[in-house]
Amino acid sequence: MPGNEAGKQPGKRLRQPIVVVLGHVDHGKTTLLDKIRGTAVTAKEPGLITQHVGASVVPASVIERLAEPLKKIIPFKLIIPGLLFIDTPGHELFSNLRRRGGSVADFAILVVDINDGFQPQTYESIEILRQRRVPFVVAANKIDKIPGWKPHPDTPFIISYRQQAKWVQEELEKKLWDNVIAKLYELGFQAERFDRVKDFTRTVAVVPISAKTGEGIAELLAVLAGLAQRYLQHRLRFAEGPARGVILELREQPGLGTTADVIIYDGVLKRGDLIVTGGLEGPIITRVRALLMPKPLQEIRIAKRELEPVGEVYAAAGVRVVAPELEKAVAGAPLYVATSEEEAKKLAERVRQEIEALRIKTEAEGVIVKADTLGSLEAMVEALRRRGIPIRYADVGPVAKRDVIEAVASKEINKFYAVILAFNVKTLPEAEEEAKKHEIPVFRHNVIYQLLEDFEKWYREQTEAER
Ligand code: GDP
Repeated sequence: MPGNEAGKQPGKRLRQPIVVVLGHVDHGKTTLLDKIRGTAVTAKEPGLITQHVGASVVPASVIERLAEPLKKIIPFKLIIPGLLFIDTPGHELFSNLRRRGGSVADFAILVVDINDGFQPQTYESIEILRQRRVPFVVAANKIDKIPGWKPHPDTPFIISYRQQAKWVQEELEKKLWDNVIAKLYELGFQAERFDRVKDFTRTVAVVPISAKTGEGIAELLAVLAGLAQRYLQHRLRFAEGPARGVILELREQPGLGTTADVIIYDGVLKRGDLIVTGGLEGPIITRVRALLMPKPLQEIRIAKRELEPVGEVYAAAGVRVVAPELEKAVAGAPLYVATSEEEAKKLAERVRQEIEALRIKTEAEGVIVKADTLGSLEAMVEALRRRGIPIRYADVGPVAKRDVIEAVASKEINKFYAVILAFNVKTLPEAEEEAKKHEIPVFRHNVIYQLLEDFEKWYREQTEAER
């Protein structure tokens, strides 16, 4: 079965850490992910990198080979089978990797353009990583754009760095400090260039890289792999039991109905398994009809690959699940295998409670929140709470007429909170009309930070006008 040989080998008891890439738009997240997969391919051992659904695995053998020149700086022998990267960078999918009180992601790479520094989505990424308690390293990207920098493609950063002119080295150090390290300190993090870090549990490692030339990528992978197996061992211990996962995305597939792209973080998922997952109308108990994985190819192409059925999938993995009733499921819901009907009922109750805890319904003053998935709803609610903004009502789905009615009811208590904050969802025409009629502002955005900024700006204007 593709991608899971490592998990099957006797003696290898740790699974791959699940790694996500976050950061501001245009700072190089996509280029970095492509380069990581590309680097693994040019390691010239076909079939080594394995493509999953929504994720790719860079195996330990590739990381070790790339990191060979770094052994002195980061001594390690890998006992993890590799690193599983979630293919889509950014917040949307990350927020769906939710797990009660945390994240399914074990590690994050925060990409910061070293020339551009911290930007709104950089702050938002750190905020959400903090909320979900996900450790991260910073990839200080685009070092090739530093004036005077001479690229040494595929050369480890340390060697490339030594070959730069003194003033170029100083320029890098200055940007690294001003635009990255000092900013992390301002947010309460200790941070240091990775090769100067003494205690990785207390200090955020910052790896200068160029996603374009490839400089620093070997270091980044080595730091991640080294840190994961040293500090996350308890999380990575693999149990050969029933699978646990989370729905990353739901997809319509012709002939198969609604399928779920699921990230499995523990255990084994098999065709025919009894599974429990969540929907807005209640928990769903169903059976896996088929599991689909990309066909292995000799050469990696990020482009869409044909899927083929497999019998079982070992954590950590990304897999497409085909099962009845998934059209009622919601992205961000947990997915558990039950070993009996009885256990399924218990798990269903747990899932129901977990999902209901995220949906807010009160009679009090507060804003109305609509979001596209459970993950983004949770992130929105957490962000609002931290800012002390009260919530009257929060749910998944497009802005509907009843949301406007809720806002109108909220207006009677406090008009400054009589707004709808819509994250990544549409407004139904009926609701639009109703909102206009009752003068209910609808704020819409696909960046939480921006959405809250827009609302707070409006709030300040309104309350000031009142005085
Ligand atoms: P994303 O929005 O964070 O996914 O950013 P992209 O990966 O799409 O990159 C945005 C732009 O920056 C693209 O034009 C990339 O080619 C460019 N870019 C990304 N990484 C680097 C880098 O290391 N050096 C240079 N010079 N350009 C880069």
